[in-house]
Amino acid sequence: MNKLKCNAVNCLYNYDALCSAETIKVQGEQAMGSGATFCGTFSSKNIGNYVSSITNMNYGGAAKQLFNTASMEPHVFCDAVNCTYNTNQLCNADDVQIQNEVSTSAEQTECQTFYPR
Ligand code: SF4
Ligand code: SF4
Repeated sequence: MNKLKCNAVNCLYNYDALCSAETIKVQGEQAMGSGATFCGTFSSKNIGNYVSSITNMNYGGAAKQLFNTASMEPHVFCDAVNCTYNTNQLCNADDVQIQNEVSTSAEQTECQTFYPR
């Protein structure tokens, strides 16, 4: 299971720099560097998106996080096949950092952990 941190605070899944989604999908099939990757699961904070995101919420992780017993750790699917951590479109990095504090759309985020093969 990946440990993921994310500072895209405008994403509704972001909770105290952790991700409350059950699964995320990082995109960037042609990416040769982190700048061409992005978190396709980013969803901006608005009422409509809260409702539509309910099925992907990691409530167990969120509840545990409140009691400080575990981290929220989404499964990370990833299209960035040129990254050394990508195995059959799954991320096998121990720690993943998604970022861009000022992102207001998925495309403005990026996976800082990308490392070219
Ligand atoms: S941008 Fe992606 S990794 Fe960050 S909180 Fe949103 S869904 Fe999770
Ligand atoms: S570290 Fe690599 S494989 Fe993992 S999510 Fe980031 S780009 Fe994808």
